[in-house]
Amino acid sequence: MKVEEKLALDAFKTDKESHITINQEICRAKCKEKNCIVVCPGHLYSYNEENNEMVVEFAGCLECGTCKIACPEGAITWVYPKGDFGVQYRYG
Ligand code: SF4
Repeated sequence: MKVEEKLALDAFKTDKESHITINQEICRAKCKEKNCIVVCPGHLYSYNEENNEMVVEFAGCLECGTCKIACPEGAITWVYPKGDFGVQYRYG
């Protein structure tokens, strides 16, 4: 079974509020690398060129915390989703 197939089995209970906050000013002004786009295993980050801002689809977060560590400028604030929300792993 491929990783993508395993991940597709996971279930998500999504809060209305995101548990991930991006400081757009820091992201725009200081971060050239945009590591979050590359490192997120769920491919949840994208840069909206039109609005000049980083976007994260927090509902699909796998709660690995990688984006928080990978941001060289500390633009990402990441906490676990509130109790009862977030990912429910179904395969390991
Ligand atoms: Fe992606 Fe992991 Fe960050 Fe969630 S915690 S947005 S899965 S890198």
